[in-house]
Amino acid sequence: MELKNFDPEITDAIQGEAGREENTLNLIASENYPSKAVLAAQGSLLQNKYAEGYPHRRYYGGCEFVDKVEEIAVDRAKKLFGSDHVNVQPLSGVPANMATFFSLANFGDTIMGLALPHGGHLSHGYSVSFSGKWFKSVNYQVERDTETLNYSNILKLAEAEKPKIIICGASAYSRKIQFDKFREIADKVGAYLVTDMAHIAGIVAAGLHQSPIPYADVVTTTTHKSLRGPRSAMIMCKSKWAENIDKWVFPGIHGGPHMHTIAAKAVCFKEALEPEFKGYINQVLLNAKTFENEFKKLGYRLVADGTDTHLLLVDLRSKKITGRDAEDVLTKASIIVNRNTIPYDPEKPLITSGIRIGTPAATTRGMKEPEIKKICNWIDKILTNPGDENTIKKVGTEVKELCKSFPVYNK
Ligand SMILES: *Cc1c(COP(=O)(O)O)cnc(C)c1O
Repeated sequence: MELKNFDPEITDAIQGEAGREENTLNLIASENYPSKAVLAAQGSLLQNKYAEGYPHRRYYGGCEFVDKVEEIAVDRAKKLFGSDHVNVQPLSGVPANMATFFSLANFGDTIMGLALPHGGHLSHGYSVSFSGKWFKSVNYQVERDTETLNYSNILKLAEAEKPKIIICGASAYSRKIQFDKFREIADKVGAYLVTDMAHIAGIVAAGLHQSPIPYADVVTTTTHKSLRGPRSAMIMCKSKWAENIDKWVFPGIHGGPHMHTIAAKAVCFKEALEPEFKGYINQVLLNAKTFENEFKKLGYRLVADGTDTHLLLVDLRSKKITGRDAEDVLTKASIIVNRNTIPYDPEKPLITSGIRIGTPAATTRGMKEPEIKKICNWIDKILTNPGDENTIKKVGTEVKELCKSFPVYNK
């Protein structure tokens, strides 16, 4: 029986979400809209198949087609990123990091990642995450004045703490990260280097950000952010770590791989290998630069003074509005952003002084510089008059009109 006949409640929720995605402007830096081809693979009957193990070494019969799917996904990922070894089975970013840390370190060893309030990720050693509970976690930070990474200070901390693993990569850092410099630091202190490129994987795939592959022992990434694939992840590593990583993914922390999602990743990699993908990422970066220039013209201070990636962090203190209130009032006008701490934020993590703005999703809809300029001015109008219901309503109408001209799936 078809879903809509059998389960109208869930059908309604799905249709509601479809309408929300079409009619709101998504500036959440970690989200994107994968193609219908990716969604078709993700929603396919491949999800029915148990395939514990790896191609041609499964613990189940009947794996001839899913073996093919996984081999194609691995080959395309290798071609896209130039890695020696790829494991496409991790179910999401956090488990990819878990399998990686367990491969390289033991319970109680020291790991060193970027502090969460400075743009790092929960799974890089934060206290409430497995990574902070099972390892001794030390954090490096961005500098107070530049709000960027200072590699000689990171080296000093690494020399003092002697971590087993250094993690680089971030969820809210707007500047480029120099993976070669992290390699030098890791070599000086005898640490393994892990890069988590979740946010910037698409930019790396397009060749518009230094690739971590030559430098890091292990690279993890999600596939659903700038890479525009299904909600999932993968691990890439040097040959010497391949066996260890594979064993920690399965049977270490996972059971059966999600073959439908692996198929969707294969489709995503095929798309990212097309020349158009580079054009897309180029526009993502141009759109972020356009936001930077417009915000500066309007008198906003940007963390790290701007961006050279797909995202930027706006410091709202001069506008006398918190990140939480900005998020709430922009949502009323159908502009979706997330509140975000700024480095050394005086506000609590649930309040924050900033918002994070990303361009991958809007760029997928086809929006370019003229639209970004409009959007930035709408954001300013609202943040300058957060109590003015008329302004919110007016901007909301304009946002919906813009969304109609740039459909996501309703083409
Ligand atoms: C998004 C993100 C993850 C988490 O991925 P999930 O798929 O949500 O588990 C991990 N690391 C970084 C740096 C991220 O930005």
